[in-house]
This record gives sequence, structure tokens and C-alpha cells, in this order.
Amino acid sequence: MMRLAPFTYLAPRSLAEAADLLAEHGAAAMVVAGGTDLFPNMKRRQQEPRVVIGLRAVPELRSIRVGEDGTMRVGAMTTLRETATDPLLRERYGSLATAASLVSTPHLRHMGTIGGNICLDTRCTYYDQTYHWRKSIDFCMKKDGDICWVAPGSSRCWAVSSSDSAPVTVALGARLRLVSAAGERLVDAADLFRDDGIDYLTRRPDEILTEVVLPAVQLSGTAPLRNTYWKLRRRGSFDFPILSVAVALRSDDGVVRDVRIVLGAVGSSPVVATAAAARLEGQRPEPELIEEVAGLAWRGARPLDNTDLNYAWRKRMARVYVRRALRDAVGLPPSEPAVDRSVA
Ligand SMILES: Cc1cc2nc3c(=O)[nH]c(=O)nc-3n(C[C@H](O)[C@H](O)[C@H](O)COP(=O)(O)OP(=O)(O)OC[C@H]3O[C@@H](n4cnc5c(N)ncnc54)[C@H](O)[C@@H]3O)c2cc1C
Ligand code: SF4
Repeated sequence: MMRLAPFTYLAPRSLAEAADLLAEHGAAAMVVAGGTDLFPNMKRRQQEPRVVIGLRAVPELRSIRVGEDGTMRVGAMTTLRETATDPLLRERYGSLATAASLVSTPHLRHMGTIGGNICLDTRCTYYDQTYHWRKSIDFCMKKDGDICWVAPGSSRCWAVSSSDSAPVTVALGARLRLVSAAGERLVDAADLFRDDGIDYLTRRPDEILTEVVLPAVQLSGTAPLRNTYWKLRRRGSFDFPILSVAVALRSDDGVVRDVRIVLGAVGSSPVVATAAAARLEGQRPEPELIEEVAGLAWRGARPLDNTDLNYAWRKRMARVYVRRALRDAVGLPPSEPAVDRSVA
């Protein structure tokens, strides 16, 4: 049985207290939300905080509310189950509700939070192992070692961003509120994620993610927001994504506007398919054009041999999943017989 190493657990009762504690304990501390990722990582000695600051008793982090400007604000401690089942979220931001509903199992969705999901550690076959397994290969550069076993000549880590909600927040153009003892800032979701398997977030260690701010679905004078999320995984019952596609766009009298196509689980950060989106922008989404756009989008997928299933096949499936997601978003019928949203 894997045991946790000794650590000090602190349970602040307010956001200000949590931020002060994080500032006080510095690099020795980490925050925990649902603990579904952090505690297994601590058992495997992948992460070794001496102080763990629990956010469960911080009431201001757990709410879903609509702002006066029409934005929707989801507190970081909102559970995945709440995110998946909230009626307004499902109606307006179906992609986020779907992503949350496809994370793991009901037990984990009851414990796991949207904030923890966004800040989820990157994953790799050579890293998500017990301490003794990792020691037997002399570790790797993400923790305790010097080499990358996926790309031994590489000076960087290629661990994979495997969060279901991360690509969705980028596609939706969400902003994320980060609070520290020194103040607060609002960052675009696209700017939170960094293409680096080790230093994968631009969040400072003393910052707490407090809320996800989703843009108003219908700004006056603009077309309604349409959005969707498609996930590929080995088992439909539960598994991390090995490929995912998030799409958000506005359809204005049959013409596509403000389109964002974002791939997940094919790099160390969500991959924005900029050229593909530009090709679709301002066009009518005819099936031939969707096919061409899918062909442009999959080029950005760079899966390596460090997650489940064959990486060349995962790259090919990127084209298929982009096509499925785009047809779904623009309201075209599926191009193939009905498929389970979670399996190929
Ligand atoms: C068997 C299994 C299957 C899983 N399947 C999936 C899956 O399919 N898809 C998926 O996306 N995930 C999956 N996960 C990972 C995890 O359960 C989820 O990502 C979950 O949402 C993590 O949320 P949490 O609240 O438990 O995070 P925690 O474990 O509490 O924290 C995760 C990380 O985020 C940081 N953190 C948490 N909250 C904040 C905050 N407010 N501010 C700053 N930093 C914060 C923590 O310090 C830690 O580094 C799986 C896990 C397991 C064990
Ligand atoms: S990509 Fe390389 S350095 Fe990163 S976790 Fe995997 S083996 Fe380690």
C-alpha cells in the first residue's frame, strides 16, 4: 500500500487567510481542492509539499452565478458534478458541462473541482508511476532525474496536458481570476497554460485560482454562442483523454464568426488550431469546408508515445474528432453512424 509522507494540513476559513498562508509557507506549500490528483501524486512522491492548504472551508470559492454583464462565474471549488449538472451551465456552456461530466467516475466528480481540473498536473507513462518504479529507471527530468525517457535527446519535458476542462476554457475565451496576498489578476485561459511539461502553468506558486469567468453567451448585437466538446479515451466508462476537441463559435445568419478550435491531450498545453479557425471564419460551414478545416487542424496535434494507445493513430484521430466536433457545433448531421461521444 502506498502511504502519504507526513505533512501539515491547514484549513483556512477565508480566501484572504488562504492567500496569507500560501505566501507565508512559500515553496513548501501547495493548495488542495478535491485532492483527487494531488493526494495520489503525493503518495507516489511526484509532489512533496510539507504544508497542504485545504480550500474546502473557503465559502467564497463555491458558487455559480451570473454577473450583471451576462458573464457566468464558476467558483474554483465548484465540484465537477455541480459543473456537469447545473442547468444554466448546461444550456449556455454545454462544452464545459460535457467536459466535467466525462471526467473519471461519479466518485471523483463528487470530490474533484473545476479549479483542480484546470490546474491538473501534466501526465506521462514514465511519470505516473510509483516512486520505486520511477527509481528503477533512474527517474526522469520532471521529478528527481535528468533525462526525458520519451525524447532522450530533448532538453524539455513533453508530459501531456490531460485536463478535460482546459481546452474548453480556452475555446470559450474564459478568463481566470488568480488571487494572492499581493493582489489579484484576471488572465485569459489561453495565457494560463504553458507548453512545458514541468512548468505547465503561468500561475505563480503563491496564487489561488478563485473563479472561471465565462463570456456572455449573447452580447447585444452578436450571434449566440455555440460550443461543444469531444473526447477520445480507451474506455467509455472512465479514462483520461488521449485526444479531445473543444469548439466555440457564433453562427450569424448561417455564417461562422468568432470560431475557436482547441485540441487537448496532444501536447503539454491545449493546442489552438489558429489556421483552421481562420479558414472557417466568415464562411458558410459546408461539409467540404469542414473537411478542409479538419485537415488543417490536425497538423497542430503532436502526440508522443507517452500516453495510452498508439500515438500515430491518435494523431490521425485528431482529424476525425475535429470533423465530428465542427459538424456538431455548426448543426450538421454526423458524417458517420452514431458514435459514443467518449470512444472512437
Ligand atoms: C482514476 C482517475 C481518473 C481520472 N480521470 C480524469 C479524466 O478523465 N479527466 C481529467 O481531466 N482528470 C481526471 N482525473 C484527475 C482529477 O481527478 C481531476 O482532474 C480533478 O478535477 C482534479 O480536481 P481536484 O479538485 O481533485 O484537484 P486537486 O487534486 O485538489 O488539485 C490538483 C492540482 O491543482 C492545484 N489546485 C487545486 N485547486 C486549486 C486552486 N483553486 N488554485 C490553484 N491551484 C489549485 C493543486 O495544488 C494540485 O496541483 C482522474 C484522476 C483519477 C485518480
Ligand atoms: S515527457 Fe520525459 S521528462 Fe516529461 S514526464 Fe515523460 S519521461 Fe519525464
